[in-house]
Amino acid sequence: MPYEQEYTLIGTTDLDYAGDLDEVAISEAEVAYLCQLSNRYFRRAIAPSDVVWSYSGVRPLVEDEAATAQATTRDFILDTDNAGSPLLTVFGGKITTFRKLAEEAVDWLGPVLGNRTGGWTAGACLPGGDLFGGRPTNRSVLEFGQWLEGVKRSYPWLPAALAERYARAYGTRIHLLLAWRQGIPDMGKQIVPGLYEAEAYYLMEQEWAVCAEDILWRRSKLGLHAGGGAEEVLDDWIDQRMRRA
Ligand SMILES: Cc1cc2nc3c(=O)[nH]c(=O)nc-3n(C[C@H](O)[C@H](O)[C@H](O)COP(=O)(O)OP(=O)(O)OC[C@H]3O[C@@H](n4cnc5c(N)ncnc54)[C@H](O)[C@@H]3O)c2cc1C
Repeated sequence: MPYEQEYTLIGTTDLDYAGDLDEVAISEAEVAYLCQLSNRYFRRAIAPSDVVWSYSGVRPLVEDEAATAQATTRDFILDTDNAGSPLLTVFGGKITTFRKLAEEAVDWLGPVLGNRTGGWTAGACLPGGDLFGGRPTNRSVLEFGQWLEGVKRSYPWLPAALAERYARAYGTRIHLLLAWRQGIPDMGKQIVPGLYEAEAYYLMEQEWAVCAEDILWRRSKLGLHAGGGAEEVLDDWIDQRMRRA
C-alpha cells in the first residue's frame, strides 16, 4: 500500500505467537519472506536493507477450533463479571465492528456503574467526522476532497501538504488546531521536522498525548519523517511544558 506519501507498506505475515508480549517484533525471516514476495510482483527489487520501519502486534482471537489462524472467527465476545467490582473482558473484535463492540460494552458498564443515559452513539459522528452536519453520512467519504478544498480556502497561508495531512488526521477538528492562527509564525516553532508546536499542544490537550511516542507513533506516523533523535527532542519539549503547567 502507498504509505505516508513517501513510503510503501508491505505485509502482513500471520504466525502463531507464544513468546514474551513485551518483545513482539518482526523476525529477520519474516522480513526476508516479505521482500522475496514483493520481488515476485514488482520490477524494482527490494532487500531487507531498504526497510526503514516495521511494526508488529499480537492479535488475540477467540478459540473456535478452526484449523488455521486465518479461519478463526473475528467475532467478539464480552465476558462480564460483577460479583465484586464490575469487570468486563473483551475477546476478539474487528476494526469494522469497534463501535458496535464499544456500544455493547457501555450498555453493560453504564447501568452497573449507575449511569442510565442509554445508548446514543449509533447515529453520532466520531470526533472531527462531522464534515457535513452532526450525523454520519456517505458524503464525508465521497465529498472529502471538496471539503478539503474549503479548508484550503479558509487557511490560504497553510502549505497544501500540511492542510491535507491535518484534514485527514483531524477532520473538522482542524479548526480547533488552527483556531486563531493567521500564518505559519502563529504555529509556534517546528519542534521536530513536520511538527509545529500548535499540533503538539492540540494533541496533548485534545487527544491526551503525554509523551513523544504518543505524538510521533500512536497518534500519527510523523516519526517516519522526523529523523533520528526526534523522540528525545520532543520528550524534552513536553517535559518543559508539563513542568511549567
Ligand atoms: C495485530 C493485530 C492485527 C489486527 N488486524 C486486524 C485486521 O486486519 N482487520 C480488522 O478488522 N481488525 C484487526 N485487528 C483488530 C482491531 O484492531 C481491533 O478489534 C480494534 O482496533 C478494536 O478497537 P477499539 O477501539 O475497541 O480498541 P483499540 O483500538 O484497542 O483502542 C483503545 C484505545 O484506548 C487507549 N487506552 C487504553 N487505556 C487507556 C487509558 N487508561 N487512558 C487513555 N487511553 C487508553 C489505547 O491506547 C487505544 O488507543 C487486529 C488487531 C491486532 C492486535
